[in-house]
Amino acid sequence: MKITNVECYALLIPDFDVDACSSAQDNLVVKITTDTGLYGIGETDTNPWGVKAIIDAPGTHAIGRGFKELLIGKDPRNVEGLWYELNEKTMMTSRRGLGICAIGAVDMALWDLCGKIYEQPTWKLLGGSTKEYIYPYASLLPEGDNLKDYSDSLVDKVTKANKLGYKAAKLEICIKGPYSHNNIQIEDDAEFAKMVHRCRQAVGNEMTLMADVAYAWRDWKSALRALQMVKEDNLYFIETPIRIEDLEGMAKLSHLSPVRIATGEMLQTRFECMETIDKGKVDVIQPDVGRVGGLTEAKRVTQYAEDKGVLVVPHCWKSAIGIAASVHLSAVSPTCTFIEFLPKELAESQLRKELVLEEHEVVNGAIALPTKPGLGIEINQNKLEEYLVK
Ligand SMILES: [Mg+2]
Repeated sequence: MKITNVECYALLIPDFDVDACSSAQDNLVVKITTDTGLYGIGETDTNPWGVKAIIDAPGTHAIGRGFKELLIGKDPRNVEGLWYELNEKTMMTSRRGLGICAIGAVDMALWDLCGKIYEQPTWKLLGGSTKEYIYPYASLLPEGDNLKDYSDSLVDKVTKANKLGYKAAKLEICIKGPYSHNNIQIEDDAEFAKMVHRCRQAVGNEMTLMADVAYAWRDWKSALRALQMVKEDNLYFIETPIRIEDLEGMAKLSHLSPVRIATGEMLQTRFECMETIDKGKVDVIQPDVGRVGGLTEAKRVTQYAEDKGVLVVPHCWKSAIGIAASVHLSAVSPTCTFIEFLPKELAESQLRKELVLEEHEVVNGAIALPTKPGLGIEINQNKLEEYLVK
């Protein structure tokens, strides 16, 4: 069996906003086809044209090879072997950044394809599971360009997520710092605390709540002061409180914080995740399957996290393709407690809603261990063409 084609689809919704903070507006989908007619699908979360260029470009050097040319003619069942080959033979151009995202999308597609070849769900090929259910947390991005609207929108969304049956939800409270939403900049952390209190009051004590502040604080002491204000609200974790490079600050914060420290959405390869776990002493590592280097690499991260007693909650802000990859990763990762999940009902992006015809269903806040071959999703070929940037 041989790989006969590797196609890259750079997708974009027509009414995209370059200032928006949702990366569900675009996508890079990879489709790997074989001489049997079977194909696999993967995606990654970065600039779609950049990754498409890296995959399509011809090689010019022994360790600056082209992805597509390396894959054509190869046996797709040799997934880990191909991972090493891609990683080693592109290291001059691709050892981090877009190149690792390219490996991520290709590797995701290969695992989907292998599941279809062997007629098994991908998690079985990855080694098997002890779980019956995977728990998605509803990731909630509020709307509004002033504090009042933003806060009201978040309370409204968390109330809806609770009514939809989600056991957990994440509050995006990104109101200061380099990645604040909709140009809001509120210096006073009491406002952050008020938003957390309002959401906790709205849903009661049973629902698990976590918060993402998107690198809001400049140093660990500011973060600690703010987190002490929400001690009573029982947050499960705080995501990206300070910048990812400040591992010393992260370790100090983690030691004293009343709330678990989570980070990892931007990290690439197991090496960056291992360093963040070892030096940053984080409580929760959040690899994004498509960005970290695919299911092959994400599984290595989860194994390391398990060995170190660290929780895994994969990041995912794309379509049901990436969500499916997170589902299979969670299945094989004992310390993965939740996966990030954009509920269709609360998401604004058409790509999140329409790109996949059949996806894993959330019933009573849980996703049953998948039984269909591969990632267990069906891409909508018409939508792939409709949102394609020509
Ligand atoms: Mg985030």
